[in-house]
Amino acid sequence: MAGPVRVAPPALPRSPFWQATSDNGAVDFSAIVASVHGFVQRDVMPYLEDWEQRGELPDDLYPKAARVGLLGLGYPERWGGTPAGAFARIAATRALCEAGSGGLFASLLSHSIALPPVLALGDEQLCGRIAPDVLAGRRRMALAVTEPGGGSDVANLQTRAVRDADHYVLDGDKAFITTGMNAEWLTVAARTGEPGAGGVSLLVVEGDRPGLGKTRLDKMGWRCSDTALLHFDGVRVPADHLVGGEGLGFLGLMHNFNHERLGLATVAWGMAEVCFADAVAWARDRHTFGKPLVSRQVIRHKLVDLRTRIDAVRCTLEQVAWRIDQGDEPVAEVCMLKNLATATLEHVAGETVQILGGAGYIRGCRAERIFRETKVLSIGGGASEVLADLAARQMGL
Ligand SMILES: Cc1cc2nc3c(=O)[nH]c(=O)nc-3n(C[C@H](O)[C@H](O)[C@H](O)COP(=O)(O)OP(=O)(O)OC[C@H]3O[C@@H](n4cnc5c(N)ncnc54)[C@H](O)[C@@H]3O)c2cc1C
Repeated sequence: MAGPVRVAPPALPRSPFWQATSDNGAVDFSAIVASVHGFVQRDVMPYLEDWEQRGELPDDLYPKAARVGLLGLGYPERWGGTPAGAFARIAATRALCEAGSGGLFASLLSHSIALPPVLALGDEQLCGRIAPDVLAGRRRMALAVTEPGGGSDVANLQTRAVRDADHYVLDGDKAFITTGMNAEWLTVAARTGEPGAGGVSLLVVEGDRPGLGKTRLDKMGWRCSDTALLHFDGVRVPADHLVGGEGLGFLGLMHNFNHERLGLATVAWGMAEVCFADAVAWARDRHTFGKPLVSRQVIRHKLVDLRTRIDAVRCTLEQVAWRIDQGDEPVAEVCMLKNLATATLEHVAGETVQILGGAGYIRGCRAERIFRETKVLSIGGGASEVLADLAARQMGL
């Protein structure tokens, strides 16, 4: 079953949050949805299956995404971005979800985890050298934190950066790095000091530095997103590529965790909406034993149950986004939201494939792809168990 080549623009939720945010008046959410939808329809849908097979996105997709405002949304104007609050980013994400491909998000927006720590801590010169090109889609950017020896325990990472005159020399390995094969810039977390979080620093490394080895990893989902194992063997990095100062790496990463997790929760919600729409369309269309599936009580109740769960995620997402737009940093709530949204997607995607029957199991169908992509959302950006633990600590338990 071939996937849809045409997708409908998503309707924005009919809830008061979309009228009463700090974006209100300044940002036209419908215009964002229309613009991203046009990009999905024109520049993504006809080619997506091909990218899934090739295991990467084409270079020219990045400037196209930049032109519709996707890459720069939420970034300062002086670097070529468009300042925006959480609801504008949610609207854009929801529209991008219509492609039904988490891999598209992961690689196209890999700068959203790699660039913010640099902008938060880096000096003017470093930011100016990197940010305008990345936000215009001329250069790609990846974040390299996870190591083969572990990803959850960031404070214990082993890759070393040793100062040698006006350079740092990097040795170690990084695993599962999104856009790691193709990124021109890598934000690399490495140990410059003592054991623990205080000894971690961030360095911006060019993707073609001598001594940097890259191996492409094959995976269950996110197939159009390239994922790499990186090996640093005496890689020399100019000392002025250190972000902020030595020992500030953990702080830089922490700074962006809430943003990343809110983004992943939004993707999970958006993908659940896509599954639900496909489940309803199929249930209306498909006849078994002489009647449409949607007329069967067991299917009707299943759809109502899915709708209820998805709306619970949306309400929580809106509430947390609203708090963030007020300047709040609700760490526990973001952790719980991500866990709720990703667990809900796992259930919704599974039930959607079930309602679609055999057609839901065939490559090229949105629900089939989303079903394979649910697990990575519960692992990346903080695995569910680790986030539950963090939420418990934040709640003083
Ligand atoms: C497709 C993909 C793309 C990725 N992209 C990137 C990227 O761009 N950059 C990057 O740096 N990383 C990336 N990652 C890595 C991802 O962030 C890590 O996989 C994640 O942080 C978990 O680390 P780990 O895989 O080493 O698992 P571990 O840390 O080894 O954990 C294994 C399991 O044990 C559980 N666990 C761990 N500690 C505890 C505990 N104390 N109590 C209870 N349970 C625990 C975890 O929840 C998990 O379920 C990516 C991963 C994937 C699969």
